[in-house]
Amino acid sequence: MVADDWGLRPLLLAVEADPRRLGRTETELARSFAGTYRVRGEATVADALRLLEGAAERAERVALVLVDDGLSEHDRRAVLDLARTRHPEARRGLLVDWGAWSDPGVARTILRGTAVGDLDSYVLRPWTEGDELFHRTIAELVQEWSRRDPRTHREVVVVADPRSGRAFEVSNLLQRNRIPYAFRDRSSTPGQRVLEAAAPAREGEVVVWMAAIGGTTLVDPSDAEVLGAWGIPTTLADAPREVDLLVVGAGPSGLAAAVYGASEGLSTLVVERDALGGQAGTSSLIRNYLGFSRGLSGSELAQRGYQQAWVFGARFVLTRSVERLERVDRAFRATVSGEGDVVARSVVLACGVAYRRLGVPSVEAFTGKGVYYGASVSAAHALAGLSAAVAGGGNSAGQAVLQLARYCREVHLVVRGEPLEETMSAYLIEAVAGESVITVHTGRDVTDASGDGRLEELVLTRRGTGEQERIGVDGLFVMIGAEPHTDWLPEEVRRDERGFVLTGMQTGRQTAHGLSGLAGHPHETSVPGIFAVGDVRAGSVKRVASAVGEGSVVVSEVHEHLATLHR
Ligand SMILES: Cc1cc2nc3c(=O)[nH]c(=O)nc-3n(C[C@H](O)[C@H](O)[C@H](O)COP(=O)(O)OP(=O)(O)OC[C@H]3O[C@@H](n4cnc5c(N)ncnc54)[C@H](O)[C@@H]3O)c2cc1C
Repeated sequence: MVADDWGLRPLLLAVEADPRRLGRTETELARSFAGTYRVRGEATVADALRLLEGAAERAERVALVLVDDGLSEHDRRAVLDLARTRHPEARRGLLVDWGAWSDPGVARTILRGTAVGDLDSYVLRPWTEGDELFHRTIAELVQEWSRRDPRTHREVVVVADPRSGRAFEVSNLLQRNRIPYAFRDRSSTPGQRVLEAAAPAREGEVVVWMAAIGGTTLVDPSDAEVLGAWGIPTTLADAPREVDLLVVGAGPSGLAAAVYGASEGLSTLVVERDALGGQAGTSSLIRNYLGFSRGLSGSELAQRGYQQAWVFGARFVLTRSVERLERVDRAFRATVSGEGDVVARSVVLACGVAYRRLGVPSVEAFTGKGVYYGASVSAAHALAGLSAAVAGGGNSAGQAVLQLARYCREVHLVVRGEPLEETMSAYLIEAVAGESVITVHTGRDVTDASGDGRLEELVLTRRGTGEQERIGVDGLFVMIGAEPHTDWLPEEVRRDERGFVLTGMQTGRQTAHGLSGLAGHPHETSVPGIFAVGDVRAGSVKRVASAVGEGSVVVSEVHEHLATLHR
């Protein structure tokens, strides 16, 4: 058994000025969590700050900090700021009263606090003994903390040099597929303990120890080996070679098509090139998806969708691309990379968009060795204490630098245009300006990169003057937009000038019912039987909810198409 000793039980802290309320919150926290956590209540901000500072100095873990919404903004921010900077993994919640939803001021505090990353959530105060809603909310928050805290025991442990590009890729893969993992620096005592027990005498850049799955140890594994060891299929070995519905892509739209297709009795196969969740899987918090008022991580949404589709009988194969599609009789033959052909009676293209490249050869050369496209910044623990840069001026770039600022010594935001107001929301600009570790470089391009086997330095060139500046960085996250890559599709599947797939009326085609596409099959492409949903579809709204909606409703069109095959 490999064990790490992380000392005291993690802390749950509530800060409330009213002693009666504080007492109730403490009692309720203790009722469910005292066995695993230390519960503390503080009535003054000064005592709370002292406690948090002391815990940081003694390297004690803090899982949750709850603050009273009745505190002044100054006091509330003092506690939240210290929690965020000294205990970046700790979840931070605002305690609000039942009925507070009628108060626009409280709603504004919550919205703003969560948008800029001060708060993770709001928590309704316990109002009675054994308030189960309160207990469930706290359980969710501490579960999120445990997923993030690098020191908790995990089902999978990755041991590597924190600067290894491949280690980052493996961490990102695990993170995006929501496989709970811990990262251990190979030079640390915990890292050495794992290596001695799990991989004695086996040299490798990255060691992956599947603690919960029979203790399997993988040395320098491929992505397919990692997922395969966790039980996620990466080959077609056990999958049917003939299906009613082939879904290309397992982002939100593809997962929805899989759930609805399989639940409505269609034999359904999903082929995904990369990881579950697509772009959404890289989002640390989706806050506008109906029904999740506290937001949910894209990887969690994806994992839930995957399990739902799997229970209904959909089959999946990950780390494989559909490379070719051709019509055969009244069906389609799809070529799956490295796995051969599958015949499908209908196809849903749910292949989203891919990240736009910087197109600078010296930068591209470090892809995966410090340069990351579409990476989940929340997997960036490996960059803790190091220096990172984000290229891009949109809201996702803004959110990424704020996230990185929790861990990194310094963070650079490199933006081509200026001013930043043209591309980023005001609340994010304000939050970025408030982080002393972030430096914003507007009106500059990343024009060169160098390093010894991994990224170490970037050259930024000022637009107009050509003036150059060098910055030392260990990681560059490129977030300069995305475009569909649909070149692999047959020519008959019509696309617009940017490569987005035309559907319904856009195709100018009449449906089998003689109706225009819009009235008949709004998601059908110019080829009957091939449909497109989500971000890859021309004119679609590029959001999770609309992708899920399109993936759900397209299945009724698929049914109608399949019915025509029997006529
Ligand atoms: C960082 C970030 C944060 C975001 N946050 C939000 C948010 O908070 N709220 C919101 O509403 N929207 C958000 N979005 C947008 C949202 O994620 C997308 O609109 C949504 O994911 C689109 O879903 P999709 O299934 O159409 O495509 P995608 O999510 O792009 O998924 C497509 C999938 O298809 C796979 N694929 C592509 N080609 C092939 C092939 N040939 N063979 C096999 N597989 C293939 C890809 O690997 C990918 O996994 C965010 C996007 C990003 C990048």
